[in-house]
Amino acid sequence: MGMTTHSSGDRPHVLVLGAGYAGLMAALRLAPHARVSLVDPSDRFTERVRLHELAAGVRPDVSHPLSHFLRPAGIEHIAARATGIDPATRTVTTDDGRRLPYDRLVYALGSRTAPVGERAHTAETAAGLSKRLQDGPGSVAVVGGGLTGIELAAELAESRPEWRVSLHSEGRVGSGFTPRARDHALGVLRARGVRIEQGRRIAEPDSVDADEVVWAASMVPNTELAAAAGLPLDPRAASGSTAPCARRRSPRCMSRGTPPRRVRPGPARCAWPARPPCPWARTRPPRSSPSSADGSRAPSTTAS
Ligand SMILES: Cc1cc2nc3c(=O)[nH]c(=O)nc-3n(C[C@H](O)[C@H](O)[C@H](O)COP(=O)(O)OP(=O)(O)OC[C@H]3O[C@@H](n4cnc5c(N)ncnc54)[C@H](O)[C@@H]3O)c2cc1C
Repeated sequence: MGMTTHSSGDRPHVLVLGAGYAGLMAALRLAPHARVSLVDPSDRFTERVRLHELAAGVRPDVSHPLSHFLRPAGIEHIAARATGIDPATRTVTTDDGRRLPYDRLVYALGSRTAPVGERAHTAETAAGLSKRLQDGPGSVAVVGGGLTGIELAAELAESRPEWRVSLHSEGRVGSGFTPRARDHALGVLRARGVRIEQGRRIAEPDSVDADEVVWAASMVPNTELAAAAGLPLDPRAASGSTAPCARRRSPRCMSRGTPPRRVRPGPARCAWPARPPCPWARTRPPRSSPSSADGSRAPSTTAS
């Protein structure tokens, strides 16, 4: 039985959920082969890897209009939040009441900092932190000894010397690093005056003695929609690894993006049929990555 498409002509309709690195790259790679719609409430692409620079006030903005990328590629932007997936009817519902049909779905909703209450700043509220830091001097504590915490603490210490910066980690700072890399990171942090506290669990922002607290621990994957739709989840999702739709079990849906640990080294796998060519065929295997449970993160697996 041939594939029923929701689009006119032979081009299938691909719906990409999430306009982060993974979703945007997937949309751009697929555009020559399919009609592509990209669903994300924001009309801007945020360079998330630069959020620490936004927080420290090094850059006033780290986002770009999505239209700059999408228009030349003929990709439609649907400015809405996906609220549900129905694999049986191949539709996605959105918070503005739309029902979007698809032939293929790319799930690239990324991750977010686990909620810790209003007192703490997070990567997602980097712009607010930047404003607050203009009122220095004072003390700022970064909680989370993974890559994000290390990067934030180092950037704040370097760019905001009027603030006393501390870094707090339940385990060792940079626990996923090689000993040499770890020593280097600790040396750089100490040289910038960062006070480092290791081996104490900070359960909530109020447990830290600092004027401002930045929470860079406990990233959670945005897997709720996949779970609600009954799509198979990687059992490691609880610790930050997501694979909402493995190819064999849900052939019309694939996931990309944060965190990439689920993708085993080797040739990229793709939920696309044999023809047209798999747009991820040139994807490099992921580098090995530390756990994200302590706020550390792994490099993106999207094709460069
Ligand atoms: C401060 C900081 C520094 C970092 N530095 C590095 C680095 O140097 N190198 C590196 O490899 N990684 C770094 N990272 C991690 C990197 O940012 C992530 O791995 C990357 O952003 C993951 O991309 P993604 O596309 O999977 O998800 P995201 O970037 O999280 O994008 C997800 C997208 O989905 C959208 N979305 C969410 N829910 C919905 C919904 N229901 N409907 C529609 N859209 C939705 C969001 O609006 C967002 O646009 C850093 C992270 C931080 C916070």
